[in-house]
Amino acid sequence: DKGVEKTRRSFSDRINELFAGFRQVDDEFFDDLEEAFISSDVGFDMTLALSDAVREEVLLRGASSGEQVKNVIIEKMVEIYDKGGEPSVAINENPDGPTVMLFVGVNGVGKTTTIGKMAYQLKQQGHKVLLAAGDTFRAGAIEQLEEWARRVDVPIITGKAHGDPASVAFDAAKEAREGNYDYVLVDTAGRLQNKVNLMNELDKMKRILTREIPGAPHETLLVLDATTGQNALVQAKEFDKTVDIDGIVLTKLDGTAKGGVIFAIRYEMDIPVKFIGLGEQLDDLQVFDAEKFIYQLIK
Ligand code: GDP
Repeated sequence: DKGVEKTRRSFSDRINELFAGFRQVDDEFFDDLEEAFISSDVGFDMTLALSDAVREEVLLRGASSGEQVKNVIIEKMVEIYDKGGEPSVAINENPDGPTVMLFVGVNGVGKTTTIGKMAYQLKQQGHKVLLAAGDTFRAGAIEQLEEWARRVDVPIITGKAHGDPASVAFDAAKEAREGNYDYVLVDTAGRLQNKVNLMNELDKMKRILTREIPGAPHETLLVLDATTGQNALVQAKEFDKTVDIDGIVLTKLDGTAKGGVIFAIRYEMDIPVKFIGLGEQLDDLQVFDAEKFIYQLIK
């Protein structure tokens, strides 16, 4: 299976090791289990919650074989991830016209690549897609998105480098409305270092988008890089203070042993991971399915 290979190896190797030498569920076993999760960036809090839940359930069931204990771990991971209700990974759609999706995140996390992949996916589904190069700040960002537009073969609205992103947003919204587009994917500048500017810029873009298309942006996605581990969680918390986020895209899960951060994000924040990035190609974006992910990690 493509993608989660490295994360899986890290979880699986450790878990398999644990079960290879399995004798009984004792304190040593739980110490090793906790270490395996923490080193995969699952995060301290979820690790402890998980460890406690597994301990309790193992006792309750009198689970004694390695296989039984492994199943308890999988069940409890799913349960703790779901938090009493599986988070929705559906995109908020605009029923009355173009759905506007805003992409935020710091430079280098894979924002542009994700927009390209998303455009490809939506186009494959038969939708009419427009891109908007709203990152006028970073050198090369406009050209990079133009390259994706070419590759996917969808139109793109651009402005001048260092121009006003709100004017790009305006042009894109107008074009989307008049041209009967289904989706507009809007890139933004990832300047978390200057939070006040970022907030003002995003606010202005959102005001203009809403004026042109009611309810826009309908979906704001925060893009995070899984290889940064716990730092991705820090970024999520920072952005959460700055802008209303509907969902997270966790990229580069193919190249990391730190994919456990997906659980830390879920455990500590109420924002669902909606998509995962598993490579640099156009079809390397997947809707996130927690249960499938957990089964792949541990089985
Ligand atoms: P941006 O600055 O946030 O727009 O980031 P880019 O989209 O330019 O991506 C930064 C780098 O990460 C590029 O080299 C991408 O090819 C790479 N990248 C993005 N997503 C993924 C992914 O899911 N997996 C891998 N392995 N690389 C990715």
